[in-house]
Amino acid sequence: MKIVLQNLTKVFPSRNKKAGEEVIAVNDFTFEIPDGKLIGLLGPSGCGKSTTLYMISGLQKPTGGKIFFGDDDVTELSAENRGVGLVFQNYALYPHMTVKQNILFPLQNLRGADKLSKEEMLERALYAARLVQIDNLMDRKPSELSGGQQQRVAIARALVKMPKVLLLDEPLSNLDARLRLQTREEIRRIQKETGITTIFVTHDQEEAMSISDLIVVMKLGVVQQIGQPQEVYDDPQNLFVAKFLGTPPINVFDGKVEGGRLYIGDAAVLDVPGVADQEVTVGIRPEGFVPDENGPLVCRLNSVEVMGRDVSVVSSHPAAQTPAIRSIINADCKVNSGETVSYTLKPHKVLLFSKTDESRIYFEVK
Ligand code: ADP
Ligand code: MG
Repeated sequence: MKIVLQNLTKVFPSRNKKAGEEVIAVNDFTFEIPDGKLIGLLGPSGCGKSTTLYMISGLQKPTGGKIFFGDDDVTELSAENRGVGLVFQNYALYPHMTVKQNILFPLQNLRGADKLSKEEMLERALYAARLVQIDNLMDRKPSELSGGQQQRVAIARALVKMPKVLLLDEPLSNLDARLRLQTREEIRRIQKETGITTIFVTHDQEEAMSISDLIVVMKLGVVQQIGQPQEVYDDPQNLFVAKFLGTPPINVFDGKVEGGRLYIGDAAVLDVPGVADQEVTVGIRPEGFVPDENGPLVCRLNSVEVMGRDVSVVSSHPAAQTPAIRSIINADCKVNSGETVSYTLKPHKVLLFSKTDESRIYFEVK
């Protein structure tokens, strides 16, 4: 099921009458979520991810704009009639019911033409339980399950009505690191197996990057960029997106362009043809540094951390906006343990941004 958001907006009235500031939680979202894909809604806390999801589900009403499922305008349709499955961060299972009863619950409320026989219900519940691999736990109570298993039950419960759309709001935040990794791969598998259009909300860029077909990066209720994860990482449209994606994060320097060359401090570090003379913010991805004795960017060497296949070199530079510059270098490349480390830069890993509005400044990469 394709989903289309058209100028979707949600304004909350001020909580504090005196201060009088309303909150534009979601500001004029217009984009299309293709059928059968997994979309990651990504952004820092408070940027409007949950609000977007609740409006798509029908739990919250937009203050402006429209929502389409396929060609149907569902903006005024109630949550029950939208055919969406919803999973929240806290699994919200019924503690007094077994796993089986929890999964069956949404089916027992179906009325009219949708009403199922007991056998049909059981069959569906078992199908959903198998999909999330908890069919051996059907008679347990939620308190007898691990966090990861509880979250699987919540996902099975959302899937049992065979929704056209699956909405997941930070579903992994309550799990420990290893389970988080495992469960996110499970979600991806289930999504591929069922082909259900899925929207996955997270503030964790790595999580979103690793499982999404498309990511939507948001900031303060405004969409910053939409694209395939690698595309957005390689080609961010502004400094916020560049900084938000990537671990270790992009390294940011103050620089200037003069005569088609980029300067960091007094050193000309890269040719940037076609860019007008100006002060710029320079982002350099950790994998963009090549150790080179004669390289123009000379940094103070702080430490070298071995990570197996790669080494992480921590250095500093007076023009850097953060105390530590992190570069990731192939372990075969020896970095001398001197006072300084010198680099040449990979041009396509160097990103320039305007000092006035933080938008990207493009140059020709030779
Ligand atoms: P996220 O899920 O990205 O953390 P939310 O969608 O929950 O963000 O919130 C977006 C903004 O809207 C925040 O500034 C939040 O404080 C505000 N907000 C959310 N729900 C309400 C509400 N019911 N009343 C007033 N403000 C709200
Ligand atoms: Mg939220």
